[in-house]
Amino acid sequence: MSAPEYHSIIIIGAGLSGLFTAWKLQQDKYDVIVLEARDRMGGRILSPQIGGTKDSCIDMGPAWIWPEFQPRLKRLLSTLNVGIFKQNTNGDMLYELDANTVERYDDQSSHEMSYRIEGGANKLLKILQTELIDKTVLLNTPVKSIHKINSGSGPGLNINALKDGKPKTYSTNQIVLALPPRIIDSTINFHPSLPAELSRLWENTPTWMAGHCKMVFIYEKPFWRKQKLSGEVFSRYGPLTEIYDGSPADESCFALTSFVGLNADQRKQMKSGQLIDMSLAQLQRLFGEGSKMVKDIQIKDWSLDQYTTTETDLSSMPRHPQYPANMPRALWSDQLILAGTETAREHGGYIEGAIESAQEALALIRST
Ligand SMILES: Cc1cc2nc3c(=O)[nH]c(=O)nc-3n(C[C@H](O)[C@H](O)[C@H](O)COP(=O)(O)OP(=O)(O)OC[C@H]3O[C@@H](n4cnc5c(N)ncnc54)[C@H](O)[C@@H]3O)c2cc1C
Repeated sequence: MSAPEYHSIIIIGAGLSGLFTAWKLQQDKYDVIVLEARDRMGGRILSPQIGGTKDSCIDMGPAWIWPEFQPRLKRLLSTLNVGIFKQNTNGDMLYELDANTVERYDDQSSHEMSYRIEGGANKLLKILQTELIDKTVLLNTPVKSIHKINSGSGPGLNINALKDGKPKTYSTNQIVLALPPRIIDSTINFHPSLPAELSRLWENTPTWMAGHCKMVFIYEKPFWRKQKLSGEVFSRYGPLTEIYDGSPADESCFALTSFVGLNADQRKQMKSGQLIDMSLAQLQRLFGEGSKMVKDIQIKDWSLDQYTTTETDLSSMPRHPQYPANMPRALWSDQLILAGTETAREHGGYIEGAIESAQEALALIRST
């Protein structure tokens, strides 16, 4: 049997927190790889291209940033030379009370301070990827278990993963767990076992926006702007409870982006096509005939994504959970270090939190 592949640090998870950690460690000349379960990088960041230009991307995961309050992200955007633009809030906001009542509010918006990333949030990842040494990120490599081994002076940790479906072992001195605590708890076994109360804490830490469903309606023309509407809607009737103008910055096409108000269990009960039909009927109620000219509909149901969502996320969809202040940052004498936005002390849940948690992990690594 061949010896396990060795790297001095192994990061689990190629979301923003994992990629940022890898990028900074490589700048410091550490030998580091990232093991990623999915067949793509980015985790909850997902911005498919919907139009003819490479920047005509829409955000099916995070869309909004607030650089004024997010200094780490602001610095990263500037370092990587990534542009941002203001969320379109020009025009009136609609408030749908029931099937027959829509109120209109002059020039109001909940997103006055919000910005978006030119080319979609994915742009950050694309640029970070080019900064990483070739083959740093191993895709299709879900980690199954982590073993602390008694190896004298050798590396103290083994990771058992599946690489493209085949068992593969990696060895290392230090691991960064750059994934949501609830996902660590549901996907990775530890040997020796971790304390039961830690497992409970991880299980009880909701993953930000897990279980939510985003729908984006793509148009050739922003017909709502002609009606002096911003595209922003709050609805108590649904099925879309929030709608915004989600058009790409280059305006090569236009989009209404929305959150579905039904939880994952309710969505599962629906007949095929029912959610789309109900959503299109709602858009027609709100915006009129122009909404029928939809060119494409993109749906991302995060509840179907096993590397973001667990069973526990299905029945409740907290939008802004509070994160526990007592989340341990390191275990096994700093050989296991936690990152991931849910572990950030200040900005937990947000993109800013992913960077904050990575910076805390980096500080710990550099101090060991
Ligand atoms: C619908 C939605 C809307 C959002 N809107 C916003 C917004 O507007 N603004 C904002 O700031 N934030 C928003 N967020 C939150 C934002 O997406 C996250 O804060 C950020 O992407 C988290 O990055 P992360 O690296 O911490 O975790 P993740 O992106 O979850 O990365 C974890 C990675 O670990 C991988 N992984 C999991 N299990 C394993 C395993 N066993 N082995 C190997 N790899 C594994 C996953 O595949 C994933 O790539 C939103 C999220 C969603 C889902």
